[in-house]
Amino acid sequence: MPVGRERSGVTTSVTSVRRGEKQPVSQAREVPADSAQVGTKLPVLREIDNIEALSKEYGIMREDVELIALNASAMTTDLPLRRVRFKIALSSRPDDIFYLGIPVLKTNTPFHGSSTEKKLYFNGKEFAAVIDFENDTCDTSYFRRNDTVLVLNTNSRSTCSGCAFCATLRQVATDQDQIKTPEQLEAYVSRLFGTSEELAAVRPHFHRPTMTPSANSFSNLHQLTLVTGCFGSEEAALADLLMVNRYFKAHGFKGTLLYIGGEIRSEAALKKVREEVDRPYFALTLEAFTRRNKIMRPEKAALTLDGAVDLLRKTKDMGIEGGFTYIVGLDPLKDIAEGMERFAGEVTRFPMIQIFQPHWEEQKGIRTPEAVNLKYYLDARKIVEDAFRGTGLRPETWQNYRSLWYFTYDGKELNEQRI
Ligand code: SF4
Repeated sequence: MPVGRERSGVTTSVTSVRRGEKQPVSQAREVPADSAQVGTKLPVLREIDNIEALSKEYGIMREDVELIALNASAMTTDLPLRRVRFKIALSSRPDDIFYLGIPVLKTNTPFHGSSTEKKLYFNGKEFAAVIDFENDTCDTSYFRRNDTVLVLNTNSRSTCSGCAFCATLRQVATDQDQIKTPEQLEAYVSRLFGTSEELAAVRPHFHRPTMTPSANSFSNLHQLTLVTGCFGSEEAALADLLMVNRYFKAHGFKGTLLYIGGEIRSEAALKKVREEVDRPYFALTLEAFTRRNKIMRPEKAALTLDGAVDLLRKTKDMGIEGGFTYIVGLDPLKDIAEGMERFAGEVTRFPMIQIFQPHWEEQKGIRTPEAVNLKYYLDARKIVEDAFRGTGLRPETWQNYRSLWYFTYDGKELNEQRI
């Protein structure tokens, strides 16, 4: 959202932050006292005290249950922030580091993060070590997969609105620079790579060793991910994708270009993508199987479930990899089962399934009633595993910081890159 703009009755004014620069925690904006931030009214997952029993009942290792519970419950913290992101090492598995982004509540959650002690507590008991607490800002770019995946938000996603579940409403916008032309893209990328050591001081997780764009600068980049919010037209979304692809290809990029969206749908546009992009991958922003017209902005809901199936078939035929994004917490379990069964046979990539994180009272209202119980998420996890068994597809932990899976998937260990 633009600097100083007000949305949903929540003042979002911030000191202008240049593109790519994250605010250090010490400079983070304070949450206004009259903020609409959720407090006592948000239901807490009541069975959270019973993690051990749930772990046994579902045959899921305790640590996975703990991380799902943290994601679904949010946390309190001594930091004046609305969302925090951080690396986490559970006390029981200190060598395994994950990355999370969690809403901050004022109360009514058993999880508490202490920035001074760098610890996370669960009902007052030490639960995990925390590394690099940061304000979870909405950024123009960041890295994942050990700095081998660059995520680009070229369209200032923070200015996008209309989906009832969207978390950018609670993030400080640091994605305000213009990237509409190849020259602007070049200037941004040069600045990002040329000053990354300086940026690393304030954004320790999302940095990359200093590098100046040259003929083969990006030959080691595994993936470019476009996460932009809606453009409002296929034409604009396609133009952006092609611009990014041309620039990075000209600098040696040979990896996968992942487009997360649903606006590029026509045969002509898909053909153009196939002609120019070496390794395209479309993750369609399905988000939910029910109430799509009610909880999503029209451009997004315009991609119906039938339309998504059709599009996934088309992309597959054309050699474009296909998957989708989905938010667990919005649909009843029976609809999750039907939807996952339906789509499991249509995709070539495991869907990016994120746990719904309500940030304020209205968002709480769109959560499906079943989802105030931790069992809902564990049931959903089983449903997805059942639907995708036999496909050979598995979640990529580094690609999803609000996942249903951390150490295991369908009874087998997940050992791939985690952050
Ligand atoms: S499309 Fe919806 S979820 Fe995505 S940025 Fe826009 S409002 Fe948020």
